[in-house]
Amino acid sequence: GVENLVIIGSGPAGYTAAIYAARANLKPVVFEGYQVGGVPGGQLMTTTEVENFPGFPDGITGPDLMDKMRKQAERWGAELHQEDVEFIDVKNRPFVIRSSDREVKSHSVIIATGATAKRLRLPREEEFWSRGISACAICDGASPLYKGQVLAVVGGGDTATEEAIYLTKYACHVHLLVRRDQLRASKAMQDRVLNNPNITVHFNTEAVDVVGNTKGQMSGIQLRRIDTGEEKVLEVKGLFYGIGHTPNSQLLQGQIELDSSGYILVDEGTAKTSVDGVFAAGDVQDHEWRQAVTAAGSGCIAALSVERYLVSNDLLVEFHQACS
Ligand code: NDP
Repeated sequence: GVENLVIIGSGPAGYTAAIYAARANLKPVVFEGYQVGGVPGGQLMTTTEVENFPGFPDGITGPDLMDKMRKQAERWGAELHQEDVEFIDVKNRPFVIRSSDREVKSHSVIIATGATAKRLRLPREEEFWSRGISACAICDGASPLYKGQVLAVVGGGDTATEEAIYLTKYACHVHLLVRRDQLRASKAMQDRVLNNPNITVHFNTEAVDVVGNTKGQMSGIQLRRIDTGEEKVLEVKGLFYGIGHTPNSQLLQGQIELDSSGYILVDEGTAKTSVDGVFAAGDVQDHEWRQAVTAAGSGCIAALSVERYLVSNDLLVEFHQACS
């Protein structure tokens, strides 16, 4: 058979779309992802306290918030699969979505695949990935690898400054490597890193590569001053990336319109993509706001749009309740 709706993604956008679609009795099929694009639950799985999601006056952890959204979607009848989507065809109808374990045909799709942390692509990055280099302080900072060590964070935005502060819980000292002569982070975060005695901020500085010791462990970073060209090795046991994100839109490349950075283009204020019946929600279509609550809001818009789309195109597969 052909499904009403397949939702790809399991962050606040995907789960909110699933809640709305399930409550509208569309019986949505949700691919939560497994590995591609991070863990199921999206980027909130890698944060600690979320203090700005309405309804939680005392804050809630990212994983707890996602777990609650997931349960809410499940309770209303969303069919959840913890599998990566490997192939999608939205050029022919019905659309085809294939995961590691199954192939589903659907009249509509919501893309809510989010964004992934960027990497520096240093020459020896692969060699030391997750053995010294990480893109997530909050996921990996507590590892015994980093306890009591000197660590470094690259980036000058809110992510990097937040990671640097977070890492002072475990590291004996943190170096923040900033490529320009100023931070991009909010004033409050700037003050917090600049006034923290356990953080040293290096402006005009870039990482050229990481260096290892004879035991094959990471022992430092080759740094270059951008203004003077001077190079030196900074001894650190860990390097954390906080340099922004890339949208997870690869599956759609060549099938729907993307902007020059790969974000899915939607009609302003809607979830509509360039292909009828394909909707996008959350960070994969939003490089500006990127909040859990805006992602959730856009997931809601996408699900309501799907219902309208199915009805107006006479595609809705109804799941009728018999009289009792
Ligand atoms: P941003 O795009 O804001 O910042 C990225 C930072 O990384 C910039 O300082 C940038 O430098 C630097 N950078 C990018 N590429 C490289 C590179 N190749 N080498 C060295 N440095 C590089 O991303 P964030 O992830 O920090 O933040 C994204 C959004 O999320 C923002 O709107 C932010 O406010 C928000 N956010 C809010 C938080 C909060 O409120 N608690 C926490 C985290 C994020 P340059 O400045 O020179 O471009």
